[in-house]
Amino acid sequence: METDLFIGGKWVSSDARFDVLDPATGSVLASVADGSVADATAAVDAASAALPGWSAVAPRERSEILRRAFELMTERAGDLAKLISLENGKALVDAKGEVTYAAEFFRWYAEEAVRAEGHVTTAPSGANRILVVRQPVGVCVLVTPWNFPAAMATRKIGPALAAGCTVILKPASDTPLTALAMAAILAEAGVPEGVVNVLPSRSSGKVVSAMLKDPRVRKISFTGSTEVGRILLAQAAENVVNTSMELGGNAPFVVFADADLNAALDGAMIAKMRNGGEACTAANRFFVEASIAAEFSAALAERMAALRVGPGTDPDTQVGPLVNEDTVDKVDKLVLAAVDAGATAVIGGSRPSGDGFYYPPTVLTGVAPDAPILREEIFGPVAPIVTFETEEEAVRLANDTEYGLVAYVYTGDLARGLRVSEGIEAGMVGLNRGLVSDPAAPFGGVKQSGIGREGGHEGMLDYLESKYIAVTW
Ligand code: NAP
Repeated sequence: METDLFIGGKWVSSDARFDVLDPATGSVLASVADGSVADATAAVDAASAALPGWSAVAPRERSEILRRAFELMTERAGDLAKLISLENGKALVDAKGEVTYAAEFFRWYAEEAVRAEGHVTTAPSGANRILVVRQPVGVCVLVTPWNFPAAMATRKIGPALAAGCTVILKPASDTPLTALAMAAILAEAGVPEGVVNVLPSRSSGKVVSAMLKDPRVRKISFTGSTEVGRILLAQAAENVVNTSMELGGNAPFVVFADADLNAALDGAMIAKMRNGGEACTAANRFFVEASIAAEFSAALAERMAALRVGPGTDPDTQVGPLVNEDTVDKVDKLVLAAVDAGATAVIGGSRPSGDGFYYPPTVLTGVAPDAPILREEIFGPVAPIVTFETEEEAVRLANDTEYGLVAYVYTGDLARGLRVSEGIEAGMVGLNRGLVSDPAAPFGGVKQSGIGREGGHEGMLDYLESKYIAVTW
């Protein structure tokens, strides 16, 4: 298991270290080097020195290195999944799903690396040609959250490397081990020294802000909370650094009475319970047409109650512990406030005693419209259900949030489904689907859920500048 910093192609130790905990027991899993501002500067030195060489490497060669990284991740999927499960807590089945998803970003961007197309047109005046070429943005700082420790890293590293950029990855302090394992895989795949640097740090604010002040850094790509995203946007303003922001969500899950109820329940289980509810795409607010609400709530409660809760690494577990104690506290407070305001916990609703950071699957009905649980990201296995009467009301309720990452809509009427999908303010919609994440599709949010897209063809454009050359020939 790698536990040191990865800078300039070398493992760099440090006297300063911090503990990574096992969420299933609360005990210490590993002690990881704690990157300082000086280490961050060394990482920018390395990424900056590697930039001219890497951006000049033939796209085909960059592509093949990424392809090799995909293959290595796939070969080691079992070990990687176990590591993710150990440090994040998620059930092994979810961790395996994450490794497949994460590796796919390397394969997809191996394919995209050779397709950084520009274009040429004749100027409307006829006087010259407009030639547009794509060039790498430069040195990128990548900051990732703990909920998908592998996929949030590969979703940034894949397109950055394909585009010819060099990177410094600052992983979340709860889950640095997966990021360090990825660094080893990338080095083995042939990524040259300094192209990928990984800097775990407990002083995330200090090290990231120092890097953003460094004029050699030209981009920050951040995935995490809207609160931290706002801070980084303000810091990036100082040097006018290119920004991509994948921030929080508050996904509505809308079920119309004409929907296939079983399909809606299958989708609800995926949208709510993938990763134990710790996903920015997690269904956060269920809006169910009043005439089917009782049936839907009872059936969802039955399915949620049947889930096996336990340590993530146990192959029989379907719901692991949450990542840390603070997350359990937050979920518990939101549920208690909702119940105080009149909601009923059909199942779950109380925090268990004992070791580990567990919270049980919970279904809440009769939730007051102004309850904080409908405003904030729950990030846990809790499904609050609210009823609606009309399509117009459903869209209004769905849009009543500062977030706009993803929405889910279930209906048997395709015209209504498309109309509602267009009316909901979100970057992504799952129409009769509970899962939208796909490396081949542009993932991202509107409103305060973010700026930019990751995945798909769009994902690489976030790491490229368009240079316009006015030519007369
Ligand atoms: P977070 O607290 O915002 O932290 C995310 C990352 O930012 C971590 O690496 C963290 O480091 C670092 N960080 C914290 N404060 C910082 C600062 N002042 N300056 C620079 N970096 C800082 O979020 P999280 O709790 O890890 O993740 C959950 C959030 O991520 C949720 O809101 C979720 O919706 C969002 N998310 C969004 C997407 C998406 O694609 N839109 C995907 C996944 C997750 P430390 O760990 O050291 O604090």
